Amino acid sequence: MESWYTPLPARLPVQPDRLKLYDTASQSVRHPGNLAEASLYVCGITPYDATHLGHANTYVTFDLLNRYWRACGLPVTYVQNVTDVDDPLLERATATGVDWRDLAAEQTELFRSDMEALNVLAPDHYVGATETVDWVVGSVEALVANGTAYAVPGTDTEPDGDIYFSIGATEAATHWTLGSVGRLSAEEMVTVFPERGGDPDRPGKRHPLDPLLWRVARPGEPSWDGRSLGTGRPGWHIECSAIARRLLPAPFTVQGGGSDLRFPHHEFSAAHATAGDGLPLAQAFVHAGMVGLDGEKMSKSLGNLVLVSRLRSQGVEPVAIRTTLLSNHYRDDWDWTQEQLTRSMDRVARWRHALDVQEPGDGTAVLAAAHRALSHDLDAPAALAEIDRWAEQAVARAERGPDGTSGTQPADVDPASPDVRAAVNGLLGLAL
Ligand code: ZN
Repeated sequence: MESWYTPLPARLPVQPDRLKLYDTASQSVRHPGNLAEASLYVCGITPYDATHLGHANTYVTFDLLNRYWRACGLPVTYVQNVTDVDDPLLERATATGVDWRDLAAEQTELFRSDMEALNVLAPDHYVGATETVDWVVGSVEALVANGTAYAVPGTDTEPDGDIYFSIGATEAATHWTLGSVGRLSAEEMVTVFPERGGDPDRPGKRHPLDPLLWRVARPGEPSWDGRSLGTGRPGWHIECSAIARRLLPAPFTVQGGGSDLRFPHHEFSAAHATAGDGLPLAQAFVHAGMVGLDGEKMSKSLGNLVLVSRLRSQGVEPVAIRTTLLSNHYRDDWDWTQEQLTRSMDRVARWRHALDVQEPGDGTAVLAAAHRALSHDLDAPAALAEIDRWAEQAVARAERGPDGTSGTQPADVDPASPDVRAAVNGLLGLAL
């Protein structure tokens, strides 16, 4: 599937890789590994709704990680999927009387334009579920063959042959255990499973939390040739698992997504991969917090979505939106407010003023300080504070005049060093 286009930032002087990230699976802050290269998989959208600030927060978070690694001189392979066939998309298409393919295409296009506006670097592979059904079929067939997947008999309302993943068989055959990736308690898993697409009451399942791998064709639903599985369509978790195994090393460096993906999505994507080849899916599982509005989680059902596209059409500069997102630590849950946005607009204006009045500036020190801040679990608020500090000093120096009274000499500018604007854009994606 076509990706979007965000210009790659200018090459920056290579920074040391001292990255420590909070890994949900090990519940520790640690270096995610893979010193020679980095690989990243971030779960993409189900394109039935426009990009809201919760999505934007997730993709900007992992864009920061991508930029951090690039600043360390590491080659990065970044994969993102689009779940362009799934129940919520089909339900929305039916409810609004549009073809599901048209709805998916239209919403994916809007997402791309939001990502470009927010200066999020495009993934190397942007792949739709509908483009990778063959990969999923191969993965599910392998799980059936090794006994970690099974067919469920039909009922009065459901046809024969849906394929489910066996939690029990996988726990017996591998090091994976239920809850070891998403780290939710047994009670939490039982509560959220049905809220996030699970079907605990489906008759014939071995374990109520066993997730769907392959849904055989129903009248009126899109379906594909599933070879030995019969015609049907993929479950959600196996989609990411199959794509990651096809395009990234096993294990790859970081699996990313919003914290609502900890369970069941990342738990089972990881379990499916491990059931197939015995290896962990990723070296670290990293989760961005939820963005709320007025004390409630932003969601379509509550009708309180703040859309990136709507803010843009109201004339809000994308760099101010990005600054607001980066003003909050990625792991925190926080509320979007107009006050935060206004503060960010003022902040961007102060930075621009400093760039206008500064003496010819060497961005090496700002780059190093902001990069150091990001090394501590992507502490973007601390990195922005470094830009504030630089801006304050640049303005103060300019106000003292060219001869200055402080006795300090303007530093010699190395022609090979980045200017501040390039450093801030390259590392933090803030195009000032
Ligand atoms: Zn995923």
